[in-house]
Amino acid sequence: MTSIWEPVIGLEVHAQLLTASKMFCGCRAQYLGMAPNSNTCPVCLGLPGTLPVINQVAVQLTIRTALALNCEIPEFSKFDRKNYFYPDLPKGYQISQFDLPLSLNGLLEFEVEGRLVRAGITRVHLEEDAGTLHHAGEIQNASFSLVDLNRAGVPLMEIVGEPDLRHPVEAPAYLAALRRTLIYLGVNDGNMEDGSLRCDANVSLRRTGASELGAKVEVKNMNSFRSIQRALDFEVARQTELLDQGQSVAQETRGWSELEQVTVSQRSKEEAQEYRYFPEPDLPPLVISRAYVAELRAALPELPMATRRRLREQYALSEEQARLISETALDAAYFESVVAAGAPPAAAANWQVQNLQALCNAAHISVSGCPVRPELLAELITMVVTDQVSGAVAKEVLAEVFETGARPSAVVLARGLGQVSDTAELERLVAEALAANQKASADYQGGNDRALGSLVGAVMALSRGKANPKAVGQLLRDRLPRK
Ligand code: ADP
Ligand code: MG
Ligand code: ZN
Repeated sequence: MTSIWEPVIGLEVHAQLLTASKMFCGCRAQYLGMAPNSNTCPVCLGLPGTLPVINQVAVQLTIRTALALNCEIPEFSKFDRKNYFYPDLPKGYQISQFDLPLSLNGLLEFEVEGRLVRAGITRVHLEEDAGTLHHAGEIQNASFSLVDLNRAGVPLMEIVGEPDLRHPVEAPAYLAALRRTLIYLGVNDGNMEDGSLRCDANVSLRRTGASELGAKVEVKNMNSFRSIQRALDFEVARQTELLDQGQSVAQETRGWSELEQVTVSQRSKEEAQEYRYFPEPDLPPLVISRAYVAELRAALPELPMATRRRLREQYALSEEQARLISETALDAAYFESVVAAGAPPAAAANWQVQNLQALCNAAHISVSGCPVRPELLAELITMVVTDQVSGAVAKEVLAEVFETGARPSAVVLARGLGQVSDTAELERLVAEALAANQKASADYQGGNDRALGSLVGAVMALSRGKANPKAVGQLLRDRLPRK
């Protein structure tokens, strides 16, 4: 049943930039694991009399991102103060950008369920992060809260998306494509659990076919792709029910409760804050020269969609293989090194996304950082395709190479795992298997082809996976002539 209400969704994404230092002072931008308030200075503590200095690398990374998202970069940009009171914000204002952001009017393309979606990017701007609060118990009834300002002043990029998404499934797909782009660019680590990548989702409904937007609800507090989808599914259902009953949807901010799998009202439009934005008087405006923009544009790496397309065409990979291998730029580079070292592309892709990826996932390391160097995987694959080892043995060898970083050929030699193609040895194994499986032999001779498979399996088991299955099949057929 198609609903008469069409969902309209727009995401606001905050991404911590991978700079060495904070946005306006020399403190470290990587603050995780440090003693509370040890990563601070008079500037990020907001002490009177201090002056901020713009982190040039943060500006550069933001423009790089904006260019990758097909944005325009105006020549003139400035910072503004966003005023509000909260204990994690020592200055009483956040330095952000209001009416003249670093970039505007971009576009993000992504696929969802095999469909290409083009979503507008309203703007990408630069601001500073706030500190963090640790409540004694739950925030509602905590007797006290502790303030940690290690994160205060960390460079934060805000990527505001146009309300161009039309179904909850498009939201995680949009975010995944954006996250992949940020990681390719090396501007963000993509970690949603630690909060270095955060997403708020705005959602409204309107009568299908209508052009004006309905009252929107902003949903916060989701820290995984799955919770974004669930929160939006919940909101669409909740708003549909209200509208179906002739009621209206209140414009408000709601929080996603992971525990109860519902959204809960946090503050209504009437309680919405007035931030009294005004230009930051302590910072000069930014003039972004066209030469600088051209330089950054020329230095952009190949982006995920382009890499995926190229892998598919250049190496004749399937859509799925190309997608998995282009997940990160490092994975893609790994694959290309394996092929360059002599492995056939299709086999290289399969070994990387299936066997190697599984080992890496279990060990929580990346393919590109694992002990199986590309040359080693290429060597192993070559041994399989030239029938020196069976696929089953190669998996065992891979597991050992994964542990030790040893050469596959050395592992095969040391453990005597080489594939047995020697006819005399195979004849002996075949005879043993036939003696032990007389019913299967008779079945095969009586016309049951599947019985041959079980006989090959029996020989493989006797050889502990080392027999060459093709040669075994041939020997069995020779030994069991059909009438
Ligand atoms: P706010 O001032 O509340 O942050 P904005 O108009 O700047 O609101 O929009 C912020 C985000 O909300 C953007 O990502 C935008 O796409 C989305 N958005 C705006 N209006 C709607 C709407 N009616 N329905 C869904 N999303 C919307
Ligand atoms: Mg907002
Ligand atoms: Zn500082």
